[in-house]
Amino acid sequence: MHIIVMGAGVIGTTTAYYLNKAGHEVTVIDRQPGVALETSFANAGQISPGYASPWAAPGVPLKAFKWLFQHHAPLSIKLTGDFYQYHWMVQMLAECNTHRYKINKERMVRLSEYSRDCLNELRAETGIHFDERQLGTLQLFRKQQQLDAAEKDIAVLKEEGVPYELLDKKGVIQAEPALLQATVDFVGGLRLPNDQTGDCQKFTTELAELAAKQGVNFLFNSTIESVEKQLDKITAVKLKDGRTVKGDIYVMATGSFSHEMLHQLDIEAPVYPLKGYSITTQISNPELSPVSTILDETYKIALTRFDERIRVGGMAEISGFDYSLEQGREETLLMVLQQLFPLASDMSNANFWTGLRPATPDGTPIVGKTKYTNLYTNTGHGTLGWTMSCGSAQLLADLISNQTPKIQADDLDVSRYISKS
Ligand SMILES: Cc1cc2nc3c(=O)[nH]c(=O)nc-3n(C[C@H](O)[C@H](O)[C@H](O)COP(=O)(O)OP(=O)(O)OC[C@H]3O[C@@H](n4cnc5c(N)ncnc54)[C@H](O)[C@@H]3O)c2cc1C
Repeated sequence: MHIIVMGAGVIGTTTAYYLNKAGHEVTVIDRQPGVALETSFANAGQISPGYASPWAAPGVPLKAFKWLFQHHAPLSIKLTGDFYQYHWMVQMLAECNTHRYKINKERMVRLSEYSRDCLNELRAETGIHFDERQLGTLQLFRKQQQLDAAEKDIAVLKEEGVPYELLDKKGVIQAEPALLQATVDFVGGLRLPNDQTGDCQKFTTELAELAAKQGVNFLFNSTIESVEKQLDKITAVKLKDGRTVKGDIYVMATGSFSHEMLHQLDIEAPVYPLKGYSITTQISNPELSPVSTILDETYKIALTRFDERIRVGGMAEISGFDYSLEQGREETLLMVLQQLFPLASDMSNANFWTGLRPATPDGTPIVGKTKYTNLYTNTGHGTLGWTMSCGSAQLLADLISNQTPKIQADDLDVSRYISKS
């Protein structure tokens, strides 16, 4: 079977890799000159099934309201006047209750845990390197109130069987010795020893090279103009330069841009661009740098150690397709790095970046079949796209190859927005 994958972010590239492994001929189309040059370029570097949780949770609407008035707030909203923005926010609000949260969290954890197993297999099979570390992640609590509130998360971790360590200040310093240099106080942390870290762009680039060697065809600098249909089948992908690409099966993996492309095919997939930021600095003092990922609970900002760099990322803005680099956001990221690891790296030369997370209202990606017999989606991975990438791709390759997936998959496709199960 010849399969056309639209999009070469971490999702499109892993999809292509697993489809090729399952014996299919694969062509990947992307408008960029290489893989992972949009949202997958400079994310926070966590492969973190332990933190797989929807943003839409009970209590979030109230928190979000308070954040609107804070200078260093993790979430902000800029109304664009676009009806789709209102509609998406209303859909998200409808998920902010205990019943929906439980359903959504279970789906995300199921996919993320499976994804980590797939990544571990992939690593063993290929020997792929991407500044990877398997040293867990640490949620850092500056205030006793945050440490107390961790009780709720711990109950969920226990229920899901996810290993964890609740640490006091001494335990935190044992896990992350360079925090001794921190200029702010903290009281403890929650460590998830099974989480992993690394550079998503490196991972995607290495994987694409392996896939290309195994016969996957990448069409770069190729902007998709439209997807052509006839009755219940997709017939071709039309490119802006006039070329037409045809296959037997098509996979939509264009991240935040999937909504509009699917809308043109009369499929309503609520994927919204949730803007985030990161900075990357060059390490000047390895012993005074983080060992792995620290997630600062106060600002919901993650600091991740790569081999020779530190990536600091986070924040969420509901502001449409806006790529502007807000100086205030860079200041917040630098402030947190300065407070926690003041002597680690050269902050004068930080690379400041923004990316648009393809977010769904329920936090769960949209993976699986559509109403077209030969169109599948692998999109909407939001805050933890890399974490869920290998599992989503393997699952989709199984569905397309008529194999039974290893995890439940019938509640992950786009039909859940119609049936609301
Ligand atoms: C600040 C930040 C921090 C994050 N931290 C983490 C983290 O620590 N861990 C984690 O797991 N996830 C994290 N994420 C989320 C993760 O990065 C995303 O979920 C993931 O990158 C989405 O991948 P994707 O392939 O779906 O989208 P993308 O990487 O955006 O890929 C989509 C591709 O489609 C192509 N495309 C779109 N339209 C067209 C068109 N018309 N024609 C041709 N090509 C097209 C684009 O060029 C692009 O290459 C973070 C995100 C942000 C912004």
